[in-house]
Amino acid sequence: MKKRILITGGAGFLGSHLCEQLLNQGNEVICLDNLFTGRKQNIAHLMSQPNFEFIRHDITEPITVEVDQIYNLACPASPPHYQYNAIKTIKTSVMGAINVLGLARRVHARVFQASTSEIYGDPEVHPQPESYWGHVNTIGVRSCYDEGKRVAETLFFDYHRQNGVDIRVVRIFNTYGPRMLPDDGRVVSNFIVQALRGEDLTIYGDGSQTRSFCYVDDLINGFMKFMETDDFTGPVNLGNPGEFTMLELAELVLKKTGGKSKITFRPLPPDDPRQRQPDITLAKNRLGWEPKVPLSEGLDHTIAYFSQLLKSPAAHQPRTMKKPVRPQTLN
Ligand code: NAD
Ligand code: UDP
Repeated sequence: MKKRILITGGAGFLGSHLCEQLLNQGNEVICLDNLFTGRKQNIAHLMSQPNFEFIRHDITEPITVEVDQIYNLACPASPPHYQYNAIKTIKTSVMGAINVLGLARRVHARVFQASTSEIYGDPEVHPQPESYWGHVNTIGVRSCYDEGKRVAETLFFDYHRQNGVDIRVVRIFNTYGPRMLPDDGRVVSNFIVQALRGEDLTIYGDGSQTRSFCYVDDLINGFMKFMETDDFTGPVNLGNPGEFTMLELAELVLKKTGGKSKITFRPLPPDDPRQRQPDITLAKNRLGWEPKVPLSEGLDHTIAYFSQLLKSPAAHQPRTMKKPVRPQTLN
């Protein structure tokens, strides 16, 4: 049945793919975004569709719309972007969650939270099942994101228990694919863009840390399956259990792009998790979901996207982010 669906963060990497898939299924989609890390280009091809609407709005402010479902994706996801204005990041997660939950409560909408593997922090349990409570620094540079997302999960479950709000909470593990920003700062886009430009690939630390990379189409398919499943709030992990060191990833990207780039080593950022791999048993059992696209194939699609993008002059202009205003001191 056709639904009216609000997607916050809908002009971002994941959000734009979700808008597209939900429209393809015949739904009406309202995409809300403040365009901090999202781009109008990501949704330009959807603008002429009668079932699609774009609202430029900041989710830290309340909004009223009549909808059947809400997907809450609004939040910068790449470490350089979420650390750029850390206070805004935590406000986006916490006030954003309060605003979408309040809306869901008023209009009786099912509401989905894009949580993250970061809530497990630098994990002492490997791979990470949903029952693991995590190992997170409360005062580090990643905390604005990790703790913001943890509070958002808490708010989702409190609104569910206290007000009967119909929630779905997914913990997303590193996902990549077309429409990541070329200067996004996350490892897959960094390595591909560096390799295509003939620049050195920057490994932070010694490259032995691991991540598990999920291709965007698999993840979006999991989102939609979860949202259509009754009597299951989550939290549920969605990700690809294939685990790689950053050195392995760099070598694979170099092999596929065939360029002359070399690998250089840079200092490891603080609190960078050593290892990460989802335990997806719950997603398999409750959603009948598992990823299908192996890293090698997903990288081919992503490399093709960036090769095309880097041919356009706009891709070579650095993005200008407004500096947060610093309070004046008296002396
Ligand atoms: P992204 O940065 O491309 O998308 C985030 C979107 O939210 C952007 O369009 C941005 O402009 C918008 N946004 C940010 N602050 C906002 C605000 N205050 N009001 C309205 N819009 C705002 O990142 P993404 O990878 O597409 O991530 C989407 C969601 O999934 C995020 O919540 C992120 O935390 C979560 N997630 C992503 C990954 C991943 O690997 N891609 C992993 C874990 C969690
Ligand atoms: N990383 C790297 N080089 C880069 C960007 C990231 O070696 O140019 C490392 C980073 O330190 C981390 C891993 O790659 O260990 C994944 O980083 P990303 O920012 O993509 O995601 P997250 O750390 O949030 O999982």
